[in-house]
Amino acid sequence: MKTIDFSTYSSIKIGSLIDVKIINKIQNYSDYIIIGGANNILLSPNPPKLAMLGKNFDFIEKEDDYLHIGAATPSGKILSYAKKHNLANFELMQKLPGTLGGMVKMNAGLKEWEILNHLVAVKTENGWIKKEDIEYGYRFANIKGTIFEAKFKTSRGFDFKLLEMFKKLRDNQPNFPSAGSCFKNPEKNYAGKLLDEVGLKGFKIGSMAFSDSHANFLINLGNGTFDEAITIIGEAKKRVFEKFNIMLELEIKILGH
Ligand SMILES: Cc1cc2nc3c(=O)[nH]c(=O)nc-3n(C[C@H](O)[C@H](O)[C@H](O)COP(=O)(O)OP(=O)(O)OC[C@H]3O[C@@H](n4cnc5c(N)ncnc54)[C@H](O)[C@@H]3O)c2cc1C
Repeated sequence: MKTIDFSTYSSIKIGSLIDVKIINKIQNYSDYIIIGGANNILLSPNPPKLAMLGKNFDFIEKEDDYLHIGAATPSGKILSYAKKHNLANFELMQKLPGTLGGMVKMNAGLKEWEILNHLVAVKTENGWIKKEDIEYGYRFANIKGTIFEAKFKTSRGFDFKLLEMFKKLRDNQPNFPSAGSCFKNPEKNYAGKLLDEVGLKGFKIGSMAFSDSHANFLINLGNGTFDEAITIIGEAKKRVFEKFNIMLELEIKILGH
């Protein structure tokens, strides 16, 4: 067990001191919710049992045109490895905070560049699962169990132009603590645009707000609380539904509510 202070560990800086089980061997952990870097998580004051992968799962190994990456490996480390070894397909990890497990589970990405694009297979307690056997889409991958490792196809040639493009696309992200985009974009629409149109850009409850530079980023202005976050999320869903008849779906994972 390790005691983690979620008010500093989580990217949105909400939570308290919680005991988290550290996993160092492959077995079934279905009693626990597995977390990675907590960059996409809002933790309630009554969280479920949490576990995270330990150092044994922080590795990158090259095998011909494939990389085997441990699920605890942080995105920055993978990006540096790809740059150093002149390998393609990992440029999207530029300023995309997280561990490999969280990125795969979320099918994290930007526009058409998603982490599952070059995925070959993932390893869980039930063995290797091929990508063809995984149901996945925009910000989800239906993988049962704990992700311990993943295998990716790579090729020569780190793409610096693509890296620049990701840097630019992320330039408008607010500097305040957040958990990334709060809501998923509804089909053929943008959550940020809808929030703006119902007057929520820059809207604040206590110390939680929808950013005035990017309405779909729920930001913590200082001492934001879980309750404030839930209230503002509820307000957004209500207003968007009333005006557009669209039910916004959370991208952020709320744990224990
Ligand atoms: C400033 C900022 C910008 C962001 N920009 C983007 C962006 O452009 N695109 C994007 O897609 N996301 C973005 N995000 C969200 C976040 O970076 C991604 O969702 C990332 O994949 C989260 O990884 P994590 O390790 O922190 O996962 P966590 O937040 O810890 O967990 C996310 C989910 O994955 C599950 N999970 C984690 N590890 C495992 C595992 N080993 N096995 C099984 N399940 C697991 C958790 O239970 C949870 O459901 C952003 C976040 C921030 C703070």
